[in-house]
Amino acid sequence: MVLDIDGFLHTERLPHIWCPGCGIGTVTGAFLRAVVDLGLKRENTVVVSGIGCSSRATGYLDVGTVHAIHGRALAFATGIKMARPEFDVVVFTGDGDGAAIGGNHLIHACRRNIDVTCILLNNQVYGMTGGQLSPTMELGDRATTAPYGQVEPPFDLCRLAEAAGASFVARGTAAQIRPLEKMIKQGIEHPGFAFIEALVPCPTEYGKRNPPAKVVDMLDDELTRSVSKARAAQLSPDELADKIVTGVLHRDTRAPEFQRAYAVLAARAQAEAAELTVRGGEAGVGDKAATAPARAGAVARDFLEVRFSGSGGQGVILMGVILAMAGTRDHRFVVQTQSYGPEARGGYSRSDVIISDRPIDYPELERAHVLVTLSQESASEYVRMMHADGILIYDSENVTEPPLLKGASFGIPFTRLAMEETGRRQTANVLALGAVARITGVVSVDSLRKAVMGMAPAGTEEVNSKALDRGLALDPTEWRRSGA
Ligand code: SF4
Ligand code: MG
Repeated sequence: MVLDIDGFLHTERLPHIWCPGCGIGTVTGAFLRAVVDLGLKRENTVVVSGIGCSSRATGYLDVGTVHAIHGRALAFATGIKMARPEFDVVVFTGDGDGAAIGGNHLIHACRRNIDVTCILLNNQVYGMTGGQLSPTMELGDRATTAPYGQVEPPFDLCRLAEAAGASFVARGTAAQIRPLEKMIKQGIEHPGFAFIEALVPCPTEYGKRNPPAKVVDMLDDELTRSVSKARAAQLSPDELADKIVTGVLHRDTRAPEFQRAYAVLAARAQAEAAELTVRGGEAGVGDKAATAPARAGAVARDFLEVRFSGSGGQGVILMGVILAMAGTRDHRFVVQTQSYGPEARGGYSRSDVIISDRPIDYPELERAHVLVTLSQESASEYVRMMHADGILIYDSENVTEPPLLKGASFGIPFTRLAMEETGRRQTANVLALGAVARITGVVSVDSLRKAVMGMAPAGTEEVNSKALDRGLALDPTEWRRSGA
């Protein structure tokens, strides 16, 4: 049967850039025949590649394509599959791109068992960048970076993929292209992560340093060394030493697939959040503070960057998490990031929240519109990261030398007020959140209350509710220290 693959090719971009005899074109042809034979739709097929000779394939394929960054094709593919589960997502990668730079992405994609097909074209060398050794190069082979021969043993990528959790693992060669084409079809149809290693000759960068140099001999070598899985089971380790074991080496159709498992988890989380909203509404509130508008008129922006900062143990990270959850309850776009680690042990930590009416392009805070700080050290450090007309809100008992600002600043003794209100200094962060909502109006009171209740450890709901009410009830004009 003749398959019409031209509909999936940018024929206007041909001829391709691959060297004569290179196996990458052979495998690309097999992939295209598999796609056509399976009846995949162009608009539902996405091929992602990284960097290297094999990754150039995406330039010729007329499907959805992403020519991504080095080693990250599987990360891009994972995101695409999670966003559009109905797509058939295939990765084209090489041994350098997929097993060296992208090795960690490979093992974790296998572990997750996400329904993506990864075709790793293994020519045992970095072809595009000039013939450096790759992690699949065999012992003794020569490369520009191994002029006296490779001394590190090569990866067996199929065993690596299976051990890491891939539920379909196969190996084929450019010398036996029909079986490889069948493996690609089986991999695409498999409901989980399919890893297919395709051994391909690189007559240029590999061949010129390693015999046999002629591509016909290279293919012949692949052919004579190949044995099936069944035949390999009958051979001793010594007999297997220089053999290439081909075929479907592992298949498990019952292993849980990541995207589906995640969808179930997301549905459960949404149901629990909805339940919490109902309970929060009942337990909440009904009082004046809950229904009053939070905004005191200081800021009303459609894009706001807020930084919480302080010392380890002051609940700074939690402040960011709670504000972010309140923002999502208000149906806005939200990103929350944080930095603690060594800083939490005596230095300063921070938690950043971006809340926006439109999608957020860059997840890191660039300049804070609002800086909330509970310690002198963090106030001094982070004031440099504020907008010139930003708002500073600080604990006036801990920050004894507040930075001078052009914008408004509010010095409020959060810790003392928390002690007065609840007898617990740990509630200062929730009290401060109430004050932030009161001053900035960045989230609604209702959403903030539900977010606080959702995060309050069992038994602390009452004190946290009291602390929040106290913060919401503060009169900003009483605490304003500077600014118009
Ligand atoms: Fe193929 Fe090697 Fe040429 Fe790259 S350098 S196109 S891998 S033959
Ligand atoms: Mg390579």
